[in-house]
Amino acid sequence: MTVGPDDRPLLFNLAGLLAEAPGAFRDLRFEGVTIDLGEDLVQAKPIAGSAHVARTNRGLFVTGHVGTALADTCGRCLVPVRVPLELELHEEFLPSLDIGTGQPLDRSSEPDVPRLSDHHEMDLETLVREAIQLAAPIVPLCRPDCEGLCPLCGADRNLGPHAHPDVPIDPRLDVLREFHADAEA
Ligand SMILES: [Zn+2]
Ligand SMILES: [Zn+2]
Repeated sequence: MTVGPDDRPLLFNLAGLLAEAPGAFRDLRFEGVTIDLGEDLVQAKPIAGSAHVARTNRGLFVTGHVGTALADTCGRCLVPVRVPLELELHEEFLPSLDIGTGQPLDRSSEPDVPRLSDHHEMDLETLVREAIQLAAPIVPLCRPDCEGLCPLCGADRNLGPHAHPDVPIDPRLDVLREFHADAEA
């Protein structure tokens, strides 16, 4: 099964499968895919995966596997991190046109179910994008026990203990600070 055109690498024409009886299937493979992930997510590795597409009595059911990685920053110590993702896809697509007659089908009944295009193409891009967005960690960590940055001096606490002067803030500076606050009030 060949992949779609370069600008729509996750678009697959499945007119042939739609014309077959329920139970028929196609196995799709894709690799080297880059898509716009949105939400400030940066892809660190091309998307690769596979999908098993089965003809059901009303459309196509996709189960698939996708692997990629995101480039992000550790939420505690700010070093660059690479976040590998392995995702499962499960989705049903309904046709837009009757494969036999070519007549448009009622698309209003199930607005949340993705549709094949008028050319019986299945576009997995939205499905893959949403799966990646869902799986992206809210606070990525360079390692689970990252110690983060010192709140006093900003040093990376993963590098080991570090010392501060015994009195980190000269008490005379506090007096000055209060003086300024009063003067501005
Ligand atoms: Zn970290
Ligand atoms: Zn410190």
